[in-house]
Amino acid sequence: MRLILLGAPASGKGTQAAVLTEQLGVPKISTGDMLRAALKDGTPLGKEAATYMNSGKLVPDSVVIGLVEERLKESDAQKGFILDGFPRTVAQADALDALLKRLGVGLDFIVQIDVPRELLMERATLRRTDKRTGQIYHLKYSPPPPDAELEHRADDHEEKVKTRLDAYDAQTAALLPHYEKLGVLRRVDGVGSPKEVTARMLSQIAG
Ligand code: AMP
Repeated sequence: MRLILLGAPASGKGTQAAVLTEQLGVPKISTGDMLRAALKDGTPLGKEAATYMNSGKLVPDSVVIGLVEERLKESDAQKGFILDGFPRTVAQADALDALLKRLGVGLDFIVQIDVPRELLMERATLRRTDKRTGQIYHLKYSPPPPDAELEHRADDHEEKVKTRLDAYDAQTAALLPHYEKLGVLRRVDGVGSPKEVTARMLSQIAG
């Protein structure tokens, strides 16, 4: 299964990718996670990406395209993958098409998770991560236990979330017609519990 998850920041891509990776037995490839790991490790790539990420802007195409090209060549990705957060621009989608063509494989589905903007704002600004376990909580919908050591992602503060949602509207939404033309686009209502959304996704991609 080769799957792309599309959707605005905080639409639930990461949560759904984590569940689907187990259910489908293919790795989750998240450019956001890869960039955050590079930033944490203080690599040159992490340092380059940091200024963009911390202000909610997209990292340059050449950086993320290079990351994904390398990752897709690794052995575990040969049986399939779930792309989370990539592609985000038309240039990235074109680079991915070209890469998959070179590798001689195609995409099975692109699943777009639809969530209204007001809910995306609320989800992102109240999202917290326990830095010991990596578990993600939401202060309203999925409150953390009292002993959690909570972190608030720098780009989950209100102004940064607005910038990220604007980048999504300006650049990533343009990918939908591209994938619609290929006949592999499926749309899923992302409002509801993570379990409900997973069930909707599985019904779209099953069979
Ligand atoms: P995410 O966790 O997917 O919301 O990504 C967090 C941040 O990483 C984004 O706001 C961007 O700064 C950067 N990023 C992740 N994926 C991409 C991508 N495909 N293209 C450009 N920037 C990205």
